[in-house]
Amino acid sequence: MGIDVVLATGNPHKRQELLALLGDVGYRIRTMDEFSSLPEIIEDGETCEANAIKKATILARHTGLLALADDTGLEVDALNGRPGVYAARYAGEQATYEDNCQKLLQELDGIPREKRTARFRTVMALVEPSLQIEVVEGILEGLIVETSRGTQGFGYDPVFWVPNLDCTLAELTVEQKNRISHRAQALEKAKTILNKKRETHHIVTGRSAAR
Ligand code: IMP
Repeated sequence: MGIDVVLATGNPHKRQELLALLGDVGYRIRTMDEFSSLPEIIEDGETCEANAIKKATILARHTGLLALADDTGLEVDALNGRPGVYAARYAGEQATYEDNCQKLLQELDGIPREKRTARFRTVMALVEPSLQIEVVEGILEGLIVETSRGTQGFGYDPVFWVPNLDCTLAELTVEQKNRISHRAQALEKAKTILNKKRETHHIVTGRSAAR
């Protein structure tokens, strides 16, 4: 029987990406919506690492399962690393993806191409029910374009240029994005840890940890 891992995301775009990437890992993938009465998780950390650990820890504690959480920031060098961990709320609490992209383009108005460097940073935390924590990271370097391009993906994809591929993330298919993305890179590392845990069956359940 497979071991369960529960993903700490309610965002359908991210869930779809993660499910595609986790494909053959040999775990039974569970999602948050399968569990009732989970506490609300407020992402109030000052770093992606703090948020990822917080989310996975709460989920591991409440489900008694191994939990995987990710948190992503967008660091724009010309803005001294902003929006960073606040990427989702950059243009305000209720901001849409488009609002955030527009705000970013406005803030970078007049900044020359070579100074528009940026990176996505994804931090993933794997937390066991015993609350043992492991953290990995994936980074994708790029540039912020001057005008949005492409219709795929989500978030800042239409404004994030990938120099090697000469297009924005929103001009890639899900499969193409998954070959290079920050989340995919972090997940590759998380998969290595998941494989080790599966081989050794080194999952300490909440119940046995309490004995
Ligand atoms: P989260 O921590 O993964 O929820 O990401 C926070 C915010 O970063 C999201 O609301 C998006 O605006 C942005 N973001 C995260 N991942 C991506 C991505 O792969 N492409 C574009 N934007 C992203």
